[in-house]
Amino acid sequence: MDVKKLLDVEPRAWDFIARLEPKLGAVEYMPKEKLASDLVSMLNVSNKGYNNELGISDTHNGSVCPQDKKPRVAVIGSGPSGLFASLVLGELGAEVSLLERGQPVEQRGRDIGALAVRRILQTESNFCFGEGGAGTWSDGKLVTRIGKNTDGVQAVMKTFVHFGAPRNILVDGKPHLGTDKLVPLLRNFRHHLGELGVTIRFNTRVDDLIVEDGQVKGIMVSDSQLLPGSGSQKLSFDAVVLAVGHSARDTYNMLQQHNVDISPKSFAVGLRIEHPQELINSIQYSELATEVQKGRGRLPVADYKIVKSVSDIGAENELDNAEKSRSCYSFCMCPGGQVVLTSTDPSELCINGMSFSRRASKWANSALVVTVSAHDFKPFESHGSLAGVEFQREFERRAATMGGGNFVVPAQRVTDFISNRLSVTTLPPSSYRLGVRPSKLHELFPPYITEALQQSIIMIDREMPGFLCSEALLHGVETRTSSPLQISRHGETYESTSLRGLYPVGEGAGYAGGILSAAVDGMYCGFALAKQLSLFHGDI
Ligand code: FAD
Repeated sequence: MDVKKLLDVEPRAWDFIARLEPKLGAVEYMPKEKLASDLVSMLNVSNKGYNNELGISDTHNGSVCPQDKKPRVAVIGSGPSGLFASLVLGELGAEVSLLERGQPVEQRGRDIGALAVRRILQTESNFCFGEGGAGTWSDGKLVTRIGKNTDGVQAVMKTFVHFGAPRNILVDGKPHLGTDKLVPLLRNFRHHLGELGVTIRFNTRVDDLIVEDGQVKGIMVSDSQLLPGSGSQKLSFDAVVLAVGHSARDTYNMLQQHNVDISPKSFAVGLRIEHPQELINSIQYSELATEVQKGRGRLPVADYKIVKSVSDIGAENELDNAEKSRSCYSFCMCPGGQVVLTSTDPSELCINGMSFSRRASKWANSALVVTVSAHDFKPFESHGSLAGVEFQREFERRAATMGGGNFVVPAQRVTDFISNRLSVTTLPPSSYRLGVRPSKLHELFPPYITEALQQSIIMIDREMPGFLCSEALLHGVETRTSSPLQISRHGETYESTSLRGLYPVGEGAGYAGGILSAAVDGMYCGFALAKQLSLFHGDI
């Protein structure tokens, strides 16, 4: 049976994930050579003092760091940033422990299958938590605003190819992998880390930091199936890389208790719009769309990317002109994809999009989001630096209530959303597996967000006639577009400005917004930390 082929038959693909996922090891694994020397040369950095073959490194004064005294580093989180930090540190000779609250991809696939089929949300193994992080069950779009041809992005892309991604991601204008390619890639990544001696502990949640004299000395971990603190274990480390992503709200609370420097950060919230893919093809390709429908020619299924500036009805008089407008933009557009549940708590509801490599579903979905900033978090200022998290949570709870529970998503025809009325006729079909309920989405957000969305949809329709149509369905809510906060760190060393020994990286720390930028951030942090641990003396 060709499992890969079957995976492309949507929407039954979920059932394949649940039942056949363990058989997906089709990608060839190439563990032979060490990657660090490749990364060093790809990054164009000097590698004076780094001795890859012996697994040891000279210091500047000529002494040697022997293997039995390897510095111990904990990396918390196995998303792209944590994986790449572990890879670099493992390759350069640190004793790395990678701690992940979620499950390895095999079990995670079954947990996600159970969510999609039986409505069972595992709070520690879901679309956000588990091996590979938030991007594993995603569209796997490998596009970034930090520059496709920069050394860092190229090094990450080549590493993906090394672990089994198709080579065309190095040349495609809009490369994407799809979940079915990401899963075996991650398995290869894991095997390679294991060969380097990296200890990987799944199902292990970091509940606390052990801090002495302003310096992190270790962490408290527990089995993530148990309540925080029960059966917890104390582990000592020389440094801790924090790569927890933007949904680890318990971890943010813990950092706040340690007075770690955190500040609110702008991000974006909104709704996910879904159209029939055929409609988007015909808007974008006109008469050529029929070629795509028939599977002929070289055109991929159509996507779109839109940014609009709309007037801000919530702006106060004292704000300057620039701040009287808000950006409204499409985000994480998934052609041939499906809308998925990204909640980590059953009382909250948020969604995102994913696809398989062939992007063969009947639907095209994309978030439509509006920028929000610290000024908008004022009603939640009693939560201090975590006000943005409470802002997100407020709308996720409202969405759960509007949906009526059981992960049913509140939905509205886009035409009705524009007219501020409930959709009374049967809703168009949705790719979302757990059901949609007609709802007043125009009442979910405050008017300054709703009106910004309405204005921008009308503007988009002028550019893409047919976008505003009765077949388009809005789903609520999209709140976790990026981190609502930033954990301050020193530019050169990546070390927290308030806690020595702590290295915040990736999206959760506020330094990335996607698979590639998170991976690049983790990789550079790995080199910066290796330098401080005298494992590497290059210039990054
Ligand atoms: P994450 O990937 O979030 O990883 C953090 C990890 O830390 C998680 O595995 C989590 O379980 C673990 N963790 C958290 N707290 C703890 C703790 N206390 N102890 C132990 N472990 C912990 N980006 C793209 O570029 N392209 C896309 O197509 C795309 N599609 C997406 C689709 C979906 C459905 C989602 C949810 C996201 C998508 N993204 C996409 C965004 C992308 O996944 C993230 O930007 C990226 O994964 C961030 O990487 P990270 O390493 O910073 O954090």
